[in-house]
Amino acid sequence: MASEIKKIGVFTSGGDSPGMNAAIRSVVRTCAYLKIECVGIYRGYQGMIEGDFKTLDARSVNNIINKGGTILKSARCEEFRTKQGRQKAYDQLIKEGIEAFVVIGGNGSFHGAMLFNEEFNFPVMGIPGTIDNDILGTSYTLGYDTAINTVVEAVDKIRDTASSHNRLFFVEVMGRDVGHIALNAGVGAGAEEILIPEQNLGLERLLESLKRSKASGKSSSIVIVAEGDRTGKNVFELKEYVEQHLPIYDVRVSVLGHMQRGGNPTCYDRVLASRMGVKAVESLLEGKSNYMVGIRDTKLVLTPIADAIKAHTEIDAELLRVSDIMTT
Ligand code: ATP
Repeated sequence: MASEIKKIGVFTSGGDSPGMNAAIRSVVRTCAYLKIECVGIYRGYQGMIEGDFKTLDARSVNNIINKGGTILKSARCEEFRTKQGRQKAYDQLIKEGIEAFVVIGGNGSFHGAMLFNEEFNFPVMGIPGTIDNDILGTSYTLGYDTAINTVVEAVDKIRDTASSHNRLFFVEVMGRDVGHIALNAGVGAGAEEILIPEQNLGLERLLESLKRSKASGKSSSIVIVAEGDRTGKNVFELKEYVEQHLPIYDVRVSVLGHMQRGGNPTCYDRVLASRMGVKAVESLLEGKSNYMVGIRDTKLVLTPIADAIKAHTEIDAELLRVSDIMTT
């Protein structure tokens, strides 16, 4: 590997996601393997500005592959959005002798890294860590697989009580801008309807579908609602609306909330994190910069960060069709 880089920083930024710790571990161990120094930067860009650094060796990351959250903590940092803030961060990195960094985070964190690279010609590499799976250039983001499995497990439990009481449940899941969690977990959990930001089914169709469901003899129903669904009503308003128009239903609401971000990462997320960490460090040492590591068709690929943050990933039209057929 033809690079002069001898010291790499690693940090987590934005919302935490399961698999971040496995990615930190991978970056640290790859550095140790390649005999370069690795420095943990605590609390994302905030810690970078404040110089909150700690050298990490292979043993500092023992027993974290299975843990949710992030040992380096995460933070949102308004100051880093300013040129002065980024200058302070740069000065701290130079003082510490850090010559490149790996950022594990989402769109916003990548945007910051890209600006930083452009302003200071500082080598950066991104690993997509977010449960939303909304980043272009990768079929999977770290934490997404864990999150959909968490949702499926929760909905399975809700279904037990729903069917015991012949109830209809609206289950709200994360997804303000994209419906990947709702659609995939909804199909996996056998939901009757799935409401996502990308598609407005309309309230009429929801009522029709629920009527059909009752008439066909179903004793309980689960409707998965992404936070950003386009009916114009939140889950509680949907409950009231359905109770008014279909009094045959006994309706309940369950908001899954932050439990979707937590928990032990699945094997898929742990393996993906391990692979992405190796690829991120090796790519920096090969002289590459301003890329995000992603996975496509089981192969790791690099995408310029500028492309990765351009737009959200689109919903899978084939899976939408499958979901329609399954609700028959
Ligand atoms: P997630 O959406 O999964 O929570 P994220 O990385 O998108 O993750 P953000 O809160 O959007 O989370 O961004 C994290 C941090 O990145 C911000 O607090 C800020 O410090 C930095 N950042 C975000 N956008 C920019 C930007 N346009 N310019 C500079 N820095 C930014």
